[in-house]
Amino acid sequence: MSDPRSRIPSMDALLASPGIESLMADAGRGQVVDALRVSVAHMREAIGRGDELAQGSVEDATWYVQHAAKLLAEEAVPSLRRVINATGVVLHTNLGRAPLADEALEAMRSTATYSNLEFDLDKGVRGSRYAHCVRLLCDLTGAEDALVVNNAAGALVLSMSTVGLGRGVAVSRGELVEIGGGFRIPEVVERSGASLVEVGSTNRTRADDYKEVVASGEAEAILKVHRSNFRITGFTEEASVAELVAIAAEHAIPVIYDLGSGLMLPAENIGLPEEPRAEASVSAGADAVVISGDKLLGGPQAGIIVGRAELIGRMRKNPLCRALRVDKVTLAGLEATLRLYLDPQRVLERIPTLRMLSMDDDTLKDAAETLVGVLAAAGVSCAVVPTKGAVGGGTYPGVELDSWAVELEGPKGAQALANALRDGSPPVVGRLVDDKLRLDVRTLLPGEVDVVATRVIEAVSQDREGQT
Ligand SMILES: *Cc1c(COP(=O)(O)O)cnc(C)c1O
Repeated sequence: MSDPRSRIPSMDALLASPGIESLMADAGRGQVVDALRVSVAHMREAIGRGDELAQGSVEDATWYVQHAAKLLAEEAVPSLRRVINATGVVLHTNLGRAPLADEALEAMRSTATYSNLEFDLDKGVRGSRYAHCVRLLCDLTGAEDALVVNNAAGALVLSMSTVGLGRGVAVSRGELVEIGGGFRIPEVVERSGASLVEVGSTNRTRADDYKEVVASGEAEAILKVHRSNFRITGFTEEASVAELVAIAAEHAIPVIYDLGSGLMLPAENIGLPEEPRAEASVSAGADAVVISGDKLLGGPQAGIIVGRAELIGRMRKNPLCRALRVDKVTLAGLEATLRLYLDPQRVLERIPTLRMLSMDDDTLKDAAETLVGVLAAAGVSCAVVPTKGAVGGGTYPGVELDSWAVELEGPKGAQALANALRDGSPPVVGRLVDDKLRLDVRTLLPGEVDVVATRVIEAVSQDREGQT
């Protein structure tokens, strides 16, 4: 008998088979030809292995077309895509931190083509990208001026390089922290061209400690860093912004406050413990306050600096500002997000981060019960359980968010079910607790309860089939 490989259809024959045209319309001729070549190679390998099932299809053009279609579909899945967050961690750094408001998405979409990013529409002349968002940020924080860059880490580098290049910057030993991703304050200060002047001790730093290094001329700027991602308790002391401002004023040096979280309304409005806000630091006299766009502010990734006009003006002229510059789509999303704060009655509903954080117990329990209802009706065994989530994003360390979850064991175990849920489309990410999979409903966006139900039913039935 002849080698079955000699019966593989020619490329011309495959390209003339039914179904190829629609593949070409989607993926283009080049990709389809490549996928067919891979299909032929797979057939050759299968025959080489003595795979009888494959041998039975060796002359069947449909086999190659279907195989190619599968390969093309796998390749078409984007690397970065939407994921359903059922972890209960609201600002989940691995899942992209703050989910954006519809208003922000709309603004981002409409400016993503051409926009007046650097164009003055009134005068018809060149404008500044740094003019956008300024008025809103000043209104919201009481600052004289504002600057938006790529992220808060970049904003801190820019601030340090502007006030500290070739100079000493005083930082408390209790605030020499790592923010995340290896971003450490001592290194940031040094890399910005400033020299670090450590003051105080890990647990206690007093105003006098700063006074000493400022009076001696050793430090020509003060950096205060909010301990946003950890807490120290017990025998502790730190200098307030107002105290630092008083010391700095005597020697005409600036105070920079790296605040991070970007909370723009009273924490009690979202049921959380007190957290310092930019507004208070500005009114206490800080020269520049650095906050993040995609933490508690609930906007896109951005670094925001608010403060005195003279200092912000110098930051704008710093060459590093160009290297850290913010994108038009980000600016549009940030502006739309900030605008939502102008209506305090509705802001909690409109900004998903704030809505999730302020959800009440009944709403959460109802959502979990709805999900369990749908799943149980489809024969999936599950239960509503109380659970604990987190604010996340390196904010509110130690604070747990009481929530409700759907707990699942899965036909092949919770780990297998978690894997299957991550594998499909859209991927669903939950949390394994005590060998069970928990899907916390707090972090689901509107409409996602149904999607999660569909995905769970699909994954459970897959696992069941895999079992038999
Ligand atoms: C999160 C944080 C930053 C960094 O913000 P990004 O937007 O992630 O760059 C800087 N400082 C503090 C205090 C923070 O909490």
